[in-house]
Amino acid sequence: MNLNNIGEFGLIKRIAEQFSSHSPGLNHGIGDDCAVFADGFVISTDLMIENVHFLHDPSSYHLLGRKALAVNLSDIAAMGASPLFFLLSIAIPKQYALDDIAVILTGIHSMAEEFGIALIGGDTTGSHSDLMISITVIGQAIDQRYITRKGARPGDLVQVSGPLGSSAAGLAVLTADLDPTGCETLITAHLNPIPRIKAGIALSQIDEVHAMIDISDGLTQDLGHILKASETGAELILESIPVHDSLLPVSQKIKVDPFQWILTGGEDYELCWTVAPEAEEIALNAVRKTGAVHAATIGRITTGRNITVRNYGKAVNIAQAGFNHFGVRETPDNN
Ligand code: ADP
Ligand code: MG
Repeated sequence: MNLNNIGEFGLIKRIAEQFSSHSPGLNHGIGDDCAVFADGFVISTDLMIENVHFLHDPSSYHLLGRKALAVNLSDIAAMGASPLFFLLSIAIPKQYALDDIAVILTGIHSMAEEFGIALIGGDTTGSHSDLMISITVIGQAIDQRYITRKGARPGDLVQVSGPLGSSAAGLAVLTADLDPTGCETLITAHLNPIPRIKAGIALSQIDEVHAMIDISDGLTQDLGHILKASETGAELILESIPVHDSLLPVSQKIKVDPFQWILTGGEDYELCWTVAPEAEEIALNAVRKTGAVHAATIGRITTGRNITVRNYGKAVNIAQAGFNHFGVRETPDNN
């Protein structure tokens, strides 16, 4: 059997079955945005590889450095925790100029400064072909209050911290070489995402918030992880999903279905959580106060196992569910 048959999440499942993740000091091992230690510390790692996650383009390396750290911080945000430290590992091809690496480091440094976190170690090595950057972030849940993917209950509302589909639309603008005028927010969403740390912490303090994830691979896929962990389904109301004003005009120009960007576009790094209906406004207000002013309720958790989507009452077919490194279509049933 090859990797295409089992997909990224099938492989992770196999790895998780092969290794023990039981330890007296561990509350949660493989399967969430971070592992959680018994004392409330959380930890997460991510890997970025040239020609997979980014292209060799030194002019973009400052933002690449920022994004390499931001995507890790987003996993800390998804637990509702506060970031503290990080480790940085880089594998550098011999032909790389020191100046290019320095620009990446400046980008990582600027993001680290914004969130007040310290670099405490890492590893540096050569590489035969591509540049690789791996970052591990350690954070802490305030008063041990953290939110996992498991815990969504039928009747809960599904909420998100901001517009979806922006990053996918921004990437499309860059790839199609469109005039970027009016599309700056979309492009920035793709190149310079800001993790929702404050929003995550605010939500961790609300008892009625039951489950949370960050949207790195697309709404349907990432919400699917909550549903799988919680053994629930969801109904989404497409017209209530926040979308940036410029997304629809761009989709018309490029002739792309905007629903695909909104429902399955990756790399928005917004948070998605479920909350008991009586705390709907409490959760939205807490998140909006942190600057995420477009936070909205976008649906509700059901007793089923699937995601259904309606647009002004009409059923929408979710043609393709989300990003997967080995090309397998992920659905709530198989992820
Ligand atoms: P995220 O998108 O939040 O970064 P992933 O989808 O990459 O999460 O990973 C899902 C879960 O699987 C996480 O708990 C992650 O730590 C774990 N995981 C991914 N790859 C591996 C691996 N090679 N070995 C062990 N655990 C892994
Ligand atoms: Mg995540």
